[in-house]
Order: sequence, then C-alpha cells, then structure tokens
Amino acid sequence: MPIKVGAHVSIAKRLDYAIDRAVNIGADCIQIFGSSPQSWQPFLFPLEQVDEFEEKREKAGIDPVFLHSIYLINLASKNPYILGNSIGSLVQYLKFGKAINAEGAVFHIGSHKGRGFEKVAEQVVEAMNQILLRTKGCGKLIIENSAGAGGVIGSSFKEIGLIVKALNSPRIAVCLDTAHAFEFGYDIRTKKGLDDAMKEFDREIGLEKLVLIHANDSKTARSSNRDRHENIGKGKIGLEGFRGIVSHPDLRDLPFIIETPPGSDKDDIETLRSLSVH
Ligand SMILES: [Zn+2]
Repeated sequence: MPIKVGAHVSIAKRLDYAIDRAVNIGADCIQIFGSSPQSWQPFLFPLEQVDEFEEKREKAGIDPVFLHSIYLINLASKNPYILGNSIGSLVQYLKFGKAINAEGAVFHIGSHKGRGFEKVAEQVVEAMNQILLRTKGCGKLIIENSAGAGGVIGSSFKEIGLIVKALNSPRIAVCLDTAHAFEFGYDIRTKKGLDDAMKEFDREIGLEKLVLIHANDSKTARSSNRDRHENIGKGKIGLEGFRGIVSHPDLRDLPFIIETPPGSDKDDIETLRSLSVH
C-alpha cells in the first residue's frame, strides 16, 4: 500500500478552498485551522462553505481531515482567563470538527512556566476531561509532542503517557511530530534510534493511541529543544532518516501531514512518497 501523505493547508477566503489547495499539491489527507491561530476569536463559516467543503472533499477523496488548534492554548496555565479560553477553544474546535467530519483536533498541552509537570498534571487532566464531557459524540482530542523549550509539557513520551493513562478515554489520541521528537532528543534518524523511540512510545503511551504523523525535517540539531521545521530531506533528519520513518512498520500505515510553508509542500509530499518502499 502506498503511504497516505498530505499537508497543512490554508482555509483563507473560504473553507472549501482548503480542498482545492489539497488537490493542487497532490495531498491524500489534510490538516487545517478552524480559525485564526493567533486569536481566541472563533470563525463562523457560512453553512454553504461547509457543504461545499464536504462536496469537494468527497469528490477529491481527501481523507482523513484533521484540525489543528490555535497557538494560544495552554491547559497548564495558572491564569484562569487563559485556561478557560483554552478549554472553550478546544470544545469549539471539536464541535466544528464534527460538522466537517474531521478525525479530531491536534493541540499542544502548553507550558507550566517553571512550576513543574507534577504541579500542573492534575489541572491538565481535569481540563481535558471537561473538554471530553462537553463534546460527547465528537472526534478525538489529539495531543502533539513538543520540542521541549521553556517548561512545555508533553515532549517526552513518558509525560504524554501519564496524561493519556489518567484520562483513559478512547477519544484521547496522540500525534507524533518528527521534528519535535528529534529536537527533544529522540534519535529517529537511525534505524536503532527510531526502533528505540517507538518501543518507548508503545511502553509509555501505547501504539494504538498514535493516529497521525507530522512529517517535518528539523533545521536545528538533536536535543536543541528549538522547534524549527525544515523541508523533507533538507534538515538534520535527512532523506535517509525519512526513508526509515515512512517504511517503519509502526508508522507506515498512518497519515503523514507535512507542515512546511505553502510553496514547498507539493515537493515535500512527492519526496516523502518517493521514499516509501512497497
Ligand atoms: Zn506539528
């Protein structure tokens, strides 16, 4: 089976333009924002755009569709305004996701800003529980691993696993970003490093929770904790690294989403496809 590969595409101007953009770059699957990622303000899409999105999507056979949450989310914040808005935004995203048949909403848990994981873990779990309760029947709440800068939660599989296990819900899932994993310290460039990382993932989180790969190369070195995406094969993970990633038995059947700027995403999709062996 060929790998399923796509990209994060823009919803600028109209929601359904996302599908046109996906077709133009040869994507099998996509990720989109449901609103402006720098703002708490939700978007109100006219129903006609939602219908058009669905119609075009079916015709093009784009599947699955993932939502990526806004950048302001921080479920570990001690500021009640930020915490409340973060919960509200994720609830709104999951409801919108249901309307467009998305798999779920990918998000970063946030930062404890020096307070420590243990201090905030309970709050994070409680917030995620509330989100699940308020979105019954909706898609998955998908935790993305982080590169690990500045008290960010969910860089190690261990931390993610503790939260996933505490929630114990079939609606909790995980997205693995290759750049973030590498920048945090997982040596996924080599066969041994990737095998070890996936074993750790399975032990700490459970492979059945993994629903999506963000396929990004990294501009920065391993363990840099600095999140800088690079085009596939042009960064520190490199072409050989990605050849191992797209053919790994734990990963090759999952959707791969590229998150490099528009313009190079078509090439990245082709590169990734060409690396998979059948
Ligand atoms: Zn990502």
